[in-house]
Amino acid sequence: MAKIQMTTPLVEMDGDEMTRVLWKMIKDTLIYPFVDLKTEYYDLGLEHRDETQDQVTIDAAKANARLGVGVKCATITPNAQRMEEYHLKQMWKSPNGTLRAILDGTVFRAPIITSRVPPYVSGWKKPITIARHAYGDIYRNVEARVKAGDKADLVITHADGSQDVLPVAAYACDGVAMGMHNLDNSIASFARACFEYALSAGQELWFSTKDTISKVYDHRFKDIFQEIYDAEYKQRFEEKGISYFYTLIDDAVARVIRSEGGMIWACKNYDGDVMSDMVATAFGSLAMMTSVLVSPDGKYEYEAAHGTVTRHYYRYLKGEETSTNPVATIFAWSGALAKRGELDGLADLQAFAKRLEKATLDTIEAGTMTGDLAAMAQGEGIRKVTSQAFLDAIAQRLQ
Ligand code: NAP
Ligand code: MG
Repeated sequence: MAKIQMTTPLVEMDGDEMTRVLWKMIKDTLIYPFVDLKTEYYDLGLEHRDETQDQVTIDAAKANARLGVGVKCATITPNAQRMEEYHLKQMWKSPNGTLRAILDGTVFRAPIITSRVPPYVSGWKKPITIARHAYGDIYRNVEARVKAGDKADLVITHADGSQDVLPVAAYACDGVAMGMHNLDNSIASFARACFEYALSAGQELWFSTKDTISKVYDHRFKDIFQEIYDAEYKQRFEEKGISYFYTLIDDAVARVIRSEGGMIWACKNYDGDVMSDMVATAFGSLAMMTSVLVSPDGKYEYEAAHGTVTRHYYRYLKGEETSTNPVATIFAWSGALAKRGELDGLADLQAFAKRLEKATLDTIEAGTMTGDLAAMAQGEGIRKVTSQAFLDAIAQRLQ
């Protein structure tokens, strides 16, 4: 069988621990036998990040911006314990944070659904994708505890030195105060990434804030989305037969629960943090959640939403065969290959990505799955297998 050819390389970002092991298994079992894979390889494993003073992450992000499509393995974000474990020179930043900053991107998380693991919300039939704004609000706040008798003001100092002083509170008892901000440019990038993603996915876009209460701050988000939609996207949405819909966050929550799914729900930073975990859990498993970073100028970076599955890795190091779920990482590869195929006009590469996803889902539907899914799956004939046996079963279907 002739292998499928590629024209432009994918930016391949290798990672850490159990997902690094899965990464190689997936390539060997499901990609190399079928595709003449072209990648520009960056090793984002923690040792190599440390050796290169994290330059490799910056190089990978720039390559992703240059080539347009990347696929990333889960990576360790160092903390104090990892500093010791890996004898690190520095507590390097989160690679995902570096990628987001360089690509100016928005993260979209979507569940992978099978009938074996039905969502907790019985009405949900189609995936719900959460788009989370990744800049500002409480994540870059300034906050303080305040004493009885204190006064808090919001002071805006203009470029000419003049000031507006807005009283926040006069404290009759001890309390707290917080200042936060956002930027029109960042909100506009977020809006464009959401509109682009909705067009690319052919799904409607919902956006929610609390602008009835936050009449300036949240209202600015609403206005920027609407202005960009009217000026740049309205016509393209109508041509594609999809819609853009704004509503209040509490109304959105109620509508999402009652819906069949199938929409992209754009959320402010905090709302997205909370709602993405709610939606992921309600769909069944973090191991079945994909994640794609989309920049406002249409660059894509695909990955799994879960981490490096450390507990399984320690068992693997002891020589045990693990039953770690590779589905989200397989879908990161299929997503990246499909996008590369779309951008380069390679119909057979796009078709292969579809077949890979179908073979993966069919394998689960037929009852063969990893332990995390087997523990909650419904129906007859469920077989818990190792990661490699699961990949082999998918490869057999692909053949
Ligand atoms: P995690 O790797 O997502 O794993 C947490 C637990 O969830 C696992 O112990 C496992 O439960 C279950 N799980 C997650 N993915 C699974 C899969 N594919 N198959 C089967 N079970 C799965 O999160 P963590 O343990 O909090 O973080 C580990 C490391 O990952 C950290 O160093 C963190 O910095 C990093 N991380 C990276 C990313 C990223 O690169 N995007 C995201 C999050 C975390 P059981 O042990 O009960 O089986
Ligand atoms: Mg969170």
